[in-house]
Amino acid sequence: MEGTEQTDVLIIGGGPGGIQCTNTIKHYSPETKVTVLRPETHSMVYCAIPYAIEGLFPIDRTFKKDGLITGVGGILVRQKAVQVDLKNKVVTIEDGSQIKFDKLLIATGASPFVPPVPGSDLERIFTVKTEDDTRAIIKAVEEGKQKSDTGTPKAVVVGAGAIGIEQALAYRAHGFETHLVEMMPYPLPQLLDEDMAGPIIDELKDAGVILHLGISLKALHGEKYVGDVDLSDGSTIELKEGRDFVVFGIGMRPDIDLFRDTGLKIEKDGIVVDEHMRTSITHVWAVGDCVHFKSGIDGKPIGGKLATNAVPMAKVAARDMLGLSARYKGYFNGAATVVGKLRVGGTGFSERIAKARGYEVFVTYGETTARFPMMPDPGLVRIKLIFEKGTKRLLGGQVLATEAVAERVDLLTLSVQHEFTAQDLAELSYSAQPWQSHLPARNAIVEAATKAVDMELYTDQPEPVEPGAA
Ligand SMILES: Cc1cc2nc3c(=O)[nH]c(=O)nc-3n(C[C@H](O)[C@H](O)[C@H](O)COP(=O)(O)OP(=O)(O)OC[C@H]3O[C@@H](n4cnc5c(N)ncnc54)[C@H](O)[C@@H]3O)c2cc1C
Repeated sequence: MEGTEQTDVLIIGGGPGGIQCTNTIKHYSPETKVTVLRPETHSMVYCAIPYAIEGLFPIDRTFKKDGLITGVGGILVRQKAVQVDLKNKVVTIEDGSQIKFDKLLIATGASPFVPPVPGSDLERIFTVKTEDDTRAIIKAVEEGKQKSDTGTPKAVVVGAGAIGIEQALAYRAHGFETHLVEMMPYPLPQLLDEDMAGPIIDELKDAGVILHLGISLKALHGEKYVGDVDLSDGSTIELKEGRDFVVFGIGMRPDIDLFRDTGLKIEKDGIVVDEHMRTSITHVWAVGDCVHFKSGIDGKPIGGKLATNAVPMAKVAARDMLGLSARYKGYFNGAATVVGKLRVGGTGFSERIAKARGYEVFVTYGETTARFPMMPDPGLVRIKLIFEKGTKRLLGGQVLATEAVAERVDLLTLSVQHEFTAQDLAELSYSAQPWQSHLPARNAIVEAATKAVDMELYTDQPEPVEPGAA
């Protein structure tokens, strides 16, 4: 580009937030000129990265087509914004040219965080987000396998959230000795409570992942490449420099440095937005991983760095820019992953998080087979529901199953969103079919909800019902 361009809407960032905003604006207002700044060659389906690393498909299957922007009439500029002047509505890009805008959407996302432990700047230490990250990990995996004459190659993954677990399982699939280090005493601590995590631990162990739970990373050693890894329990994982590697999956930090001195209201988690995705400056909106937003349950700040949050936020921002009504009420954070044979998901507040946020809660469980019991491999569905004491409002739920859980998680999210009570869920009208559910007589969500309705029949001071008691 040269000189100064003018656009109606400028979007900084071409991830799910930027793409969705372009599509929604163009859907309602094809004549609006939308320009998207996206420096990387390929926008990626990040969720699929672990499976590309595992080797299920080549990396290019994770690339999104530019047509998602250009095909609807958006203008894609493969450059980075390097300076923003929000008062004068102008952004300077890498080649020195400028883009003037009427409205701006900030959708710059977030980058993986590496803690400042000694040795964290050594080589063969990776994070998982970009195409470069993914290619570097795939290369390290191949190099490790080539050097297996010096012993089994090893990988250490720090952080047992969904990203860390998916990475650890990918390295196991390549035959690496894989260590998973987690500060909390159980895996998936943002998704599950400890009493639901036992089967996940078993699956990880069955897959051969060596778990270091309740333990943190102290230091990384090495000359040029990462070598031995010291842990807080005094143990050391011995790595061979140049063959083995370390991957961090411990969280994301918003990419907002560009906006620090622009007058925008910013908190630790990102740019502050309201329910319309408006920032503190009238002609500027922000969505996705770069924003600081609130829980849809208690209205207080909470993290929500998920594509499934970025997309609806972007729809709201686009509609609001066009003067169409739209509100995004807050994060509910329904999410899921796969660990070996198990599918697992959660939504709303876990019991631990609800208590930390000041709720008095009680919990119930339901468990059935995933198919009719006489069918092959009937499997299991285990549900935990978290209710507010008194009102019996559903605050959150967790699902473990041998079949897909995403739709059950979505049902629970809808119930949390609409402040359903135990009674509402106990009255759920459900479907049944031999391959897809338990018998018509029982449904694990209804069962857990019914226990909550009847809680006073069991005891004055509700106690958790053990999973499996159903
Ligand atoms: C390995 C992995 C697995 C995941 N799995 C899931 C999952 O299963 N489900 C789920 O819901 N979410 C998942 N996520 C999270 C999800 O990918 C993010 O929440 C989502 O991508 C956020 O979208 P976004 O548009 O806000 O930001 P991003 O997708 O991060 O996009 C930000 C864009 O802004 C650009 N940008 C940044 N700075 C500038 C600048 N100065 N100038 C111009 N452009 C700039 C970036 O280059 C990028 O194009 C996963 C993430 C990772 C890394």
